[in-house]
Amino acid sequence: MTSNADLFARAQRVIPGGVNSPVRAFRAVGGTPRFIQRAQGAYIWDAEGSRYIDYIGSWGPMILGHGHPAVLEAVQKAAVDGFSFGAPTEREIELAEAIIGLVPSVEQVRLVSSGTEAGMSALRLARGATGRNKIIKFEGCYHGHADALLVKAGSGLATFGFPTSAGVPEDVVKHTLVLEYNNLAQLEEAFATQGSEIACVMIEPIAGNMNFVRASVPFMTRLRALCTQHGALLVFDEVMSGFRVALGGAQSVYAKLIPGFEPDMSVFGKVIGGGMPLAAFGGKKDVMSQLAPLGPVYQAGTLSGNPVATACGLATLQEISKPGFFEALSAQTQSLVRGLEAAARDAGVALVGDSEGGMFGFFFASELPQNYGVVMATDKERFNRFFHGMLDRGVYLAPALYEAGFVSAAHTPADIAATVAAAGQALAQG
Ligand SMILES: *Cc1c(COP(=O)(O)O)cnc(C)c1O
Repeated sequence: MTSNADLFARAQRVIPGGVNSPVRAFRAVGGTPRFIQRAQGAYIWDAEGSRYIDYIGSWGPMILGHGHPAVLEAVQKAAVDGFSFGAPTEREIELAEAIIGLVPSVEQVRLVSSGTEAGMSALRLARGATGRNKIIKFEGCYHGHADALLVKAGSGLATFGFPTSAGVPEDVVKHTLVLEYNNLAQLEEAFATQGSEIACVMIEPIAGNMNFVRASVPFMTRLRALCTQHGALLVFDEVMSGFRVALGGAQSVYAKLIPGFEPDMSVFGKVIGGGMPLAAFGGKKDVMSQLAPLGPVYQAGTLSGNPVATACGLATLQEISKPGFFEALSAQTQSLVRGLEAAARDAGVALVGDSEGGMFGFFFASELPQNYGVVMATDKERFNRFFHGMLDRGVYLAPALYEAGFVSAAHTPADIAATVAAAGQALAQG
């Protein structure tokens, strides 16, 4: 048997850092990444044969658990018919119809292969459709690794940001304004001073890339009003929250709280591919018709709408659309969060959690953070000890305190109970 450590050493010789996406390297928590060999239901097994209860689910896509029979069958059938044609297929229409049927704000949708691609394309479209360059994003929200979106806040209020990656010219991010999440005063100031130049505001409505943080209802209400008033497009990045926090995404959660609420554009990924490379962006017809071949905004993809990926996504959407699916998933996720809180209380440790649908977060803090700065000020050492304490006990949590967690329909009450028991032991240990 090959050990995780051997594989990691071998990987590092041929792949930068040994991984194909940085968070997998365990840099935030230390230790050796687990090399996963297979998965079934709520479990993953590493190269050493150790089993873990999986709370990452490929960072969200595996909402049905791994190896769901209906999805597997759809993928196998599609693979037999052909991997890729570079020509249109009926299944792309079916998936577009399914997305539009579940998300009323979306009238037309274009399929792509990754969340990064979808976010980047949505941004170009928003700029092309409005004829404006400036965009607003929020600190702690991740929208993929397109140049214009790898930006952190500048020093002053409502100033333009700095690149968060080498290789991104300052010229490219000079149109990107980075504001604090849930900060109404900054939002007001940005629109008051530059409202007529803003093409779009991109936001994770329920953020999953700074752990789990909700945009407050007053903040979202005002954001919608300001965008409408100034002619800026409100772009919801629902790559993580879409079809995960609710069947209609986070926008359906806010629509229940804010009468008539809708974003102008939406970006999807993760769950809509069911674990295959598939993402999408969509919105109203007048905006979407600016895209090539109809309009002047260019966007394309050799593997876009891939027949195997669309089969996987469609089968996944069909399963999560079944009556009672989200009620059951939400209840399981809530029981996990309440269980973690209770285990922490018993151990005398401050921990708070929150969840929506099948997405959750917890913080070593006494109240829920409202923005990235507060998230990053929570107890990192405690989180890292807890992460490894859980991993040692067969529970695979996201390996960084700024990541959200995911429960699937395959997690049973016994899995949740085992997780909570492991948490009790891990917390008691310090
Ligand atoms: C994962 C994620 C992305 C990027 O998607 P990739 O498929 O990794 O490129 C973009 N936005 C959000 C909110 C995400 O969670």
